[in-house]
Amino acid sequence: MLAAYACDPAVSRGRRFAQTPAPGRTEYQRDRDRIVHCSAFRRLVYKTQVFLNHEGDLFRTRLTHSLEVAQLGRSMARSLGLNEDLVEAIALAHDLGHTPFGHAGQDAVNDCMAPFGGFEHNLQSLRVVDQLEERYPQFDGLNLTFETREGILKHCSRVHAKELEAGEPGGVGQRFLLGGQPSLEAQLCNLADEIAYNAHDIDDGVRSGLITMEQLQQVALFDDFRRQALTEFEHLQDAAAGRRLLYDSIRRMLSAQVDDVIRATRSALQQAAPRSADEVRQMPALVQFGEEMKLNSQGLKHFLLHQLYRHPRVLHTTGQARQMLRSLFNGYLAHPQQMQPRFVARFDALHGASGGPTAAARVIADYIAGMTDRFATREHERLMKLDLLIEPSGSAGGAR
Ligand code: MG
Repeated sequence: MLAAYACDPAVSRGRRFAQTPAPGRTEYQRDRDRIVHCSAFRRLVYKTQVFLNHEGDLFRTRLTHSLEVAQLGRSMARSLGLNEDLVEAIALAHDLGHTPFGHAGQDAVNDCMAPFGGFEHNLQSLRVVDQLEERYPQFDGLNLTFETREGILKHCSRVHAKELEAGEPGGVGQRFLLGGQPSLEAQLCNLADEIAYNAHDIDDGVRSGLITMEQLQQVALFDDFRRQALTEFEHLQDAAAGRRLLYDSIRRMLSAQVDDVIRATRSALQQAAPRSADEVRQMPALVQFGEEMKLNSQGLKHFLLHQLYRHPRVLHTTGQARQMLRSLFNGYLAHPQQMQPRFVARFDALHGASGGPTAAARVIADYIAGMTDRFATREHERLMKLDLLIEPSGSAGGAR
């Protein structure tokens, strides 16, 4: 069933530590299973996507977001003859490195780590599966295949790519230095990610009351489908049917985007005619929207950025979250023994060693990035009570 350009687990570039094949499972199924069973995956349920975890039980979290990306990705992969198991593995792992409190959290940790090489969440997802999970007697991390790791590392700065390349020549950092593409399965996950959050952020945004159906009528991509739904089901005009109208519009929008990606990608594949997954890596990106859908999708993103992500209420809570992570970071830097014992041990081992403070600061970033929203909040309260945090004055709102 796999197309010639799909990733084939039988010819995987393999794992960093050789392991005997598992009976009855392909290497990518095995990767997917390892991801589902790791502790970073379970923590995704208490990590913010846009709305903080405590704001309501129905909002997306990183976990439900990842499941939606996997569903959309698998669906498109099947139509395109790509490897569904690989897509699922990448989708479920793609946000493992996210800090608590969504993008605000990532910005805060990045600011704190500026003197120590910065912080990138994609690179952190790779660190989780390569180094931070402690589940196997013989190695750190989950020892995933090259193809899954390649997909997890969606973006990477040149500086970090050089570091990766030094430790793993010709490995997952190389394409960021030479300008290649990842597998089609990885490309597909990136687009599935975008389709998923654009759709669920509309839903969560309306649920929260921060955006309204009236505002959404400015968004061409959404409004076309809202009109279609109303034409087909007149009773959706009733105010009482508001939620059904919202869902039906989103459902139509999702289907249209999925169909569009399949159509546009199929035609790009016909033109480029790659004969293998490796040829794909030398070509421009082939998984894509058609021209019109691309513009429409950008229009929706622009709307969500201005009306939802930059809504004063969202900025207020994320500003507080950012401040909380900053003061936690500085607190641990001054009092590293307040971290959990295994992080204290790593911190102590690194601080005196060749990497010095830079390597030791990375341990704090790993510790904070691994926290859930509620664990970070509780830790912040605990260290405050111990009087170990210095709260910068006049920082309410956490403006940058
Ligand atoms: Mg994502």
